[in-house]
Order: sequence, then C-alpha cells, then structure tokens
Amino acid sequence: MEHFDCVVIGGGMVGAASALTLAQLGLQVALVEQYQPKDYSAEQSFDLRVSAISLASQNLLSQIGAWQQINEWRACPYKRLGVWEHESAYTEFNADDIEQRYLGHIVENRLIQLALWQQINAMRNIRAFCPDSLVSLTQDNDKATLILTNSSITTNLVIGADGAQSKVRQMSAIGITGWDYQQSAMLINVETSMSQQDITWQQFSPTGPVALLPLAGESSLGGYASLVWYHQRDEITRLASLTNSQLQEEVLKHFPKQLGEIKVLAKGAFPLTRRHANTYQHKRVLLLGDAAHTINPMAGQGVNLGFKDVIALQHVIADAISHGEAWHDEAVLARYEQKRRKENLLMMSTMDALYAGFSHPSPVIKAARNLALLAVNKVPFLNSTIKNKALAYACGL
Ligand SMILES: Cc1cc2nc3c(=O)[nH]c(=O)nc-3n(C[C@H](O)[C@H](O)[C@H](O)COP(=O)(O)OP(=O)(O)OC[C@H]3O[C@@H](n4cnc5c(N)ncnc54)[C@H](O)[C@@H]3O)c2cc1C
Repeated sequence: MEHFDCVVIGGGMVGAASALTLAQLGLQVALVEQYQPKDYSAEQSFDLRVSAISLASQNLLSQIGAWQQINEWRACPYKRLGVWEHESAYTEFNADDIEQRYLGHIVENRLIQLALWQQINAMRNIRAFCPDSLVSLTQDNDKATLILTNSSITTNLVIGADGAQSKVRQMSAIGITGWDYQQSAMLINVETSMSQQDITWQQFSPTGPVALLPLAGESSLGGYASLVWYHQRDEITRLASLTNSQLQEEVLKHFPKQLGEIKVLAKGAFPLTRRHANTYQHKRVLLLGDAAHTINPMAGQGVNLGFKDVIALQHVIADAISHGEAWHDEAVLARYEQKRRKENLLMMSTMDALYAGFSHPSPVIKAARNLALLAVNKVPFLNSTIKNKALAYACGL
C-alpha cells in the first residue's frame, strides 16, 4: 500500500490550499477529491457560488501561488462596505480608514479551487486522486488506512476538508452541535445598469438581509453583480420556482433603490446551517474548513475562517519540524485546535447574535439597532475605535 505523510480528503478551496501549504513544508501529500474541477474560459458565465475574499486570505493565496491566476481570470476588488436597516442609519466602511487600497475581492469559488489545482498539478510532492472518494478510514497506533473507491493508501495524518457533510468527521465518530436556520439564501446573478462597482452593501430587514456583491467586467447593460436574498425557507422556495423575469420584478420590488436596473441571469437557493464539530482532532485525524465549522454566511466569513485553519496548521507543523519534534504526534496536532477553536466559535456566535438582533421584530430592538449603527457612524470616538477595529478584523488584519 502506498504511504503518504498526509492525506487531505476534499479538494475544495480549503483542502486544496491545505495540501499546498503542507507540500511547501516538504511533506509527501495525497489529495482526494470526488469531482475534477472544470477548466476556465473567459466566455463562461459567472458561477453562482462566490466568496468575499479577505486581505488575509488573499495573502495566503498569493503565498501558495494561486492569487495571480485568479486575478488574471476574474476577481472584483471592493473598497467600500455599506450596511443599514433604516436609510438614516446608513454606515459605510472604507478601505482608506484602515490604510488599505481595498477591503477584499469577490471571486467565484470555482476559480479559487481551479487556480489552487493548477499549483497542485505543478507540485512534485502532491499526488492527486481525482475523481476518487473516501470509502473507509481506520486508525491504529502508527498510521491511518484509507480505502478509496479506486485504491488504498496509508498515512501519518488525515485531514478532513470534505465540507459540511464531512465523511471523515462521521467515520472518526466526531459529533457536532448545530442547527438549521429558519432562513435560506437565494443567490442571484444579474447584469446591473451600473458599471463595475467598488462597493458591497447589505440592507437588513426582519425577514433577513438583502445584499449586493459586485462582480468583475462589463455587460451590455453596464456591469455584473451577485445578489443575496435571505428570507424564510418557504419564501425562498417560492422565489426559486419563478422564471427569471418574474424574479426580476420581485427583486426590483424588494431591494433598495441603490440596486438600479437589473436583468436576472441565474439563480439558486441554499439552506443555511450552523455546525461545529465537538473536537477538531481524533488521534491522527484533523478537521479543517466547513468540515469543522459551518457558519451563517451573512458576513461572508466561512471560507476565510477555513483559510485561517490552513495557516494555523501549517505553522503548527512547521514549528514542530523546526524544533525536531515528531510533527504527527497527537500532542503536536492538538496545538492546531488550541489555535483555532476559540476564534471560530467567537465568529459563529457573533454571526448568530447579529442574525438574532437584526431579525427581531420588536420596534424597541429595531430602534436600538439603528441607533447603534448611527452611533458607530457619527460618534467620532466610536467611529475611530470600534468601527475601524471591526473592519480590520473582518479583513483578517
Ligand atoms: C449562500 C452562501 C454564501 C457564502 N458566501 C461566503 C462568502 O462571501 N465568503 C466566505 O468566506 N464564505 C462564504 N460562504 C461559505 C463558503 O462557501 C464555505 O465556507 C466554503 O465553501 C467551505 O470550503 P471547504 O473547502 O471547507 O468545503 P467545500 O467547499 O464544501 O469543499 C469540500 C470538497 O470536498 C469534496 N468531497 C466531499 N466529500 C468527499 C469524499 N467523500 N471524497 C472526496 N472528496 C469529497 C467535495 O467535492 C468538495 O470539493 C458562503 C456559503 C453559502 C451557503
């Protein structure tokens, strides 16, 4: 049976990035992914799944050689972030306030994954098993054995980066806490009458926020954007059943005037779940990304947290190697969870507090949240401390 230092199950954005960072340390890595990523061509329409990539995530993608390619394909930088419920409490975050050129980029998930796979294919110490899938996983004292659909391999370390429904997590008997939110999200790709925008905005309402994420390039109408519409599950099911032109009318009725004219190009509905693994480690198995934590996407932090997991694991293993420790020792691997669990939990809880606060129907709470937004915007002390600190944190700085 072929042996690898590490086997990463799941070659999505987080798994692919982790395979590269571990290979950079000189380890022999296997990456197992069930679907072959599709090649890119400029004529392809935008994918529905996009992510707001923070500055910290961009740094990681640059360090592993993928960012330049992503930027050459298509990525839309944004400099401003607008948030409001009532118009009078409009709050805007600006990259200038934290001395940056922009706050982040909106990028299609598929392109991030594909750019990472280009790097993987160029690395001699990563072997890709694709298309292939995990069938079973067993651990003994000195190794883990993985049966895949097409082969069998052994390893010192298994990394579960196989997403929210992680089989690695289930096969390692790692439990989860979590729930399904009452809301779902509808992603809608549109042409907009405005040319490429440098702002992403979100308007809150008790039924859930509506948001715009700008996309790169010019369309016959002006530009492109990805709209996110959070609402009760039944309403999202109804919206998903409409034709594009019917949906267009609904969007124009319910989105704020900032949107301008639009034409709907594509749509899809996604359930919202919260999941947190009870532990990120079981002997020689570690969980990263959505396999470890699935977060409400309201503030676009999911994959950014996953990339922070990737960085933390690389540091833990690099440190152990440089100090002559057995890097796959359970005590060494435990340092990864110590580094990541608190921050992931804090971000998940903050998102839940925002979700609960902004969807509460009480007029008193509505007034309080609008006053809070207004204060953050208008009171100089709050503006320069809380607002800028929150912004820097969201950018991963
Ligand atoms: C509506 C919505 C909007 C979002 N917006 C943002 C945003 O703006 N910013 C942000 O940071 N995050 C956002 N997120 C979250 C983000 O999409 C996820 O956090 C991210 O996709 C997780 O990446 P991952 O690599 O951990 O998992 P996944 O993307 O789920 O990848 C898992 C991979 O594992 C493979 N796999 C699964 N099982 C197996 C198996 N048994 N064998 C082999 N391979 C397997 C899959 O094929 C897949 O390629 C959003 C999420 C939603 C639902």
